[in-house]
Amino acid sequence: MNYRHAFHAGNHADVLKHIVLVLCLEYMTRKAGPISVFDAHAGRGLYDLTSEEAQRSPEWQNGAARVFDWPDAPPALAPFQQALRRLNAQDLRVYPGSPWLAAWALRPQDSLSLCELHPQDCLALRRVIAPDGQSLQRRADVHERDAYEALRALLPLPHKRALILIDPPYERSDDFQAAAKALRQGLQRVRQGVFLWWRPLKDAGQVDRSDGEVQAEGQFPFLRVDLAVRSAMLPGLGASSLLILNPPYPLEGQLTGLLPALCARLAQGPGASWHISRSG
Ligand code: SAM
Repeated sequence: MNYRHAFHAGNHADVLKHIVLVLCLEYMTRKAGPISVFDAHAGRGLYDLTSEEAQRSPEWQNGAARVFDWPDAPPALAPFQQALRRLNAQDLRVYPGSPWLAAWALRPQDSLSLCELHPQDCLALRRVIAPDGQSLQRRADVHERDAYEALRALLPLPHKRALILIDPPYERSDDFQAAAKALRQGLQRVRQGVFLWWRPLKDAGQVDRSDGEVQAEGQFPFLRVDLAVRSAMLPGLGASSLLILNPPYPLEGQLTGLLPALCARLAQGPGASWHISRSG
């Protein structure tokens, strides 16, 4: 396992993923009933943007930094901006990973399970989430364990209303297939769960094919959000895609209102584009 998210934290793909995550959680926590969140590829939880890793090719400067200070941003950005401000009173120095965002959004009655296979990142995660750490005084189960094995073992979750994030690094050649299979199996066990599956948009055909397979699994409502910040001809990660199964109903309207402005804000040259597709 060579992938370390610290080199990429806060880039355009994280921004899209984390905006969607906090919008989903904001909606799901409006009702008093408890919810469960399972973050299958959790990472370290918090990222120091002044660290050597984050400074090497500071992807966050073209991502989180552009939305942190955006006074007239569309309303759907507000929960994500609030999260960034909770950690950064003035300048942007710390970026929240998905576990921190979930811990921030959840309430005492909710449950949070986090899975991270890299021993050092898992240790860092435990410190961030520990009740006496840099945390939000929230209890969470942290598993140093393979995400796919954990998904099979731990689903269904304690509460029927649930959100599951599948966010692998795609460094293994079978990560794409493994994630798609885990999603299909997970849907069979948590049929009403909100599933978020993040993918790099390098091979659009592969993403389209696996989306087709997921849909063949059952008539699950879905939203797919794609965001490209530059031409696909340029090297590096220029585009990402999120598949959201059983999306909260306001999400499509929120993203339709946000994506044109977000795309313009994150654009790194010609070829920036966005696309939303949905079931039915
Ligand atoms: N979800 C995080 C966020 O949004 O802040 C970022 C996760 S990063 C893209 C992927 C993480 O998955 C890395 O920290 C990596 O160490 C971890 N990982 C890789 N393979 C894994 C596996 N099979 N099971 C669990 N974690 C894994």
